[in-house]
Amino acid sequence: MKTLRIKVYGIVQGVGMRPVVARHATRCGITGTVSNLGPYVEIFAQGEDDKVDEFIRLIEEEPPKRAAILKVDARPFDNAPVYENFEIIESAKTSGEIFVSPDIAICDECLEELFDKNNRRYLHPFINCTCCGPRLTILDALPYDRERTSMKEFPMCEKCASEYYDPATRRYDAQPVCCNDCGPEVFILDDPEERRGRDAIVHARKILAEGGVVAVKGIGGFHLACDAKNEDAVLRLRQLKHRPAKPFAVMMRDLDTVKRNCFVTDLQEEIIKGHQKPILLLKKKADSDLAADIAPDNPTVGVMLPYAPLQSLLFDYDDEITMTDCLVMTSGNVAGLPICRDDEGARREIAGFCDAILTHNRKIRIRADDSVMDFYDGKPYMIRRSRGYAPLPYMMTNNFEGSVVAYGGELKNTFCIGVNNLFYPSSYIGDLTDLKGKAALTESVGRMQVLLETKPSLAVCDLHPRYNSSEAAEESGLPLVRVQHHYAHILSCMAENDYFGECIGVSFDGTGYGTDGTIWGGEIMRCDLNGFDRLFSIKPFLQTGGDIASREGWRIAVSMLIDIYGDEAESICGKLDLIRKGSFKVYKTMHDGKVNSVVSTSAGRLFDAVSAILGIRLESSFEGEAATSLMYRAMEHGQEDMTADYALIEGDVLATDKIVKNLVEARLAGEDVNQLAYRFHYLLAKAISEAVILKAGDIRTAALSGGCYQNTLLLDLSKKMLEEKGFKVLIHSLIPPNDGGISLGQAVYGMNKLMNGGI
Ligand code: ZN
Ligand code: ZN
Ligand code: FE
Repeated sequence: MKTLRIKVYGIVQGVGMRPVVARHATRCGITGTVSNLGPYVEIFAQGEDDKVDEFIRLIEEEPPKRAAILKVDARPFDNAPVYENFEIIESAKTSGEIFVSPDIAICDECLEELFDKNNRRYLHPFINCTCCGPRLTILDALPYDRERTSMKEFPMCEKCASEYYDPATRRYDAQPVCCNDCGPEVFILDDPEERRGRDAIVHARKILAEGGVVAVKGIGGFHLACDAKNEDAVLRLRQLKHRPAKPFAVMMRDLDTVKRNCFVTDLQEEIIKGHQKPILLLKKKADSDLAADIAPDNPTVGVMLPYAPLQSLLFDYDDEITMTDCLVMTSGNVAGLPICRDDEGARREIAGFCDAILTHNRKIRIRADDSVMDFYDGKPYMIRRSRGYAPLPYMMTNNFEGSVVAYGGELKNTFCIGVNNLFYPSSYIGDLTDLKGKAALTESVGRMQVLLETKPSLAVCDLHPRYNSSEAAEESGLPLVRVQHHYAHILSCMAENDYFGECIGVSFDGTGYGTDGTIWGGEIMRCDLNGFDRLFSIKPFLQTGGDIASREGWRIAVSMLIDIYGDEAESICGKLDLIRKGSFKVYKTMHDGKVNSVVSTSAGRLFDAVSAILGIRLESSFEGEAATSLMYRAMEHGQEDMTADYALIEGDVLATDKIVKNLVEARLAGEDVNQLAYRFHYLLAKAISEAVILKAGDIRTAALSGGCYQNTLLLDLSKKMLEEKGFKVLIHSLIPPNDGGISLGQAVYGMNKLMNGGI
């Protein structure tokens, strides 16, 4: 006979931990108690020695489906009382390491009930259980109890309450539990006919079936939806949203529909069906009947399955409407602004983009955009980490101590709170070019601090003096450290890999503020937790025309060609169709006089320029368009080894100007554009690997990060070339290589600084 006090750490809140523990106890004949203490679940277990051991084994091996157990700490408990039975104790409150569960997609059991005529939750748009439903997005504070969520406005009916309090049901302790009698209600916003409930859903379906656009409130914000197979509907949505070419995500009715339209690997199938339901970038099948304008000139399409019951009801309902099985589901926002999460915002910002707004009265406390996942080498490669993933923490083995908040970058903003060795990257905030973005950032930072019950003693931000994220950090009133943008990218890659030694960081990116006041973005740097040395950059060029140059790759190309060819540049630009007749002189004058110009080593702009030179894209209507098209063209060429008959490194620059010159001449000689696109990727990767090797010394670890490493061809070539030379290469997986990832790197830097007394 013994009594143990057991603490179970990890994601143990809101996942049905206590009833499962109680069931295991009954099975083993154990008496005692279980309670939810916030950071951990505490169990007192009394019984025969081998039974208690068996009980612990069951907890470890058969936890609830959505739990993630990080540690089970079991110790003898002396002077224990005699427990008569096994009891579940209501939530008490403690502070410390806290795990907030992300939102969980509708589970199979609930989905079955949703369409079961005999179930009392038949067609209930908010059905959920202990294993599924909203979590982070409805949370006010911890511990996770209904009274601390936006469900507190909806008192449970008697039937729901009896399920909630009965450990034998699937809804025991499920905070958002509700039904058609007591739950939130859907309705059409500002509808003269005041359609609610069933009428609202039928109305929305009717509009969608007829080719219209409906805004739909989901879990973490609004989407704009239309029939993804209806070319006119898709084009109209593009016009309404002023989004000419950027791919739209598509929500498909079920896995069969996905498989009919796309190629799906086993891993992709597992993830697309899983409980996090990100958007997956999948290769389209040739006979897919999606509208071509979903993702123009793009071999992939972003696909997800319904994850909120209301979304399932858009596809299937008990009306007579014939519905499409593919709906565009794009973020309900004005380009550059955070996703709308309440009726007020929807009215103000997206009402003009749609024919109706299908909303509901369960409030969204924290925005969560859909996560977007690509794949590399058979593994997930995250482009946007948000709903379903945030705010799962990263646990570092380094002995960090303290509390910091990192405010991230300016585009694709996320922030990150670090508490001791746990780092919580936030859900996606979005672009902060508008003050609304900054307000959303400040609000979300405040909310997460409350949830995590932490008061950071240090803020971290980007080096850029005019970033709104830096301003938000300044306004926090905390002591502040600034981290160079591309160094932060490498730190984020190191942190994701739990690596804190020295490495050579390859930070290939759009733009970031350099320590010398110029624009950086194609950097190779020696990095550790304390700082970095810039070893190499790509060949600097002049970025003329200010911000517009980030959209118009031809400007960068012309600028590069002036530097390379001098007086000959005009005729070459003409032959390459880079510039309108007669406007070269104006451009050259600006270039020579350095008017509205800045010196740049941005790798992102280099990709744009090459895309223009090869005649693939002269400009981009969305970030990365020209570079992505360049990558797809290169991928069409296939793998091939190549050499350059010129040096790829000159002093401390990668001879990217020589590569460009070589491409120009090959194109003018009529060589195949796809082959040249590939040659660019190959030689760039070769230059990178040569540079790394040249200055690595004893260092045998390299890290690849920055927005350009969303390019999986560049990633693949760089990684393999370095591995061939004996390097261990750190790459990203669930933290994006783009600016959505840098807050994690900033936070780790700040934490290290805090501990070493630098502050
Ligand atoms: Zn469920
Ligand atoms: Zn109810
Ligand atoms: Fe960046």
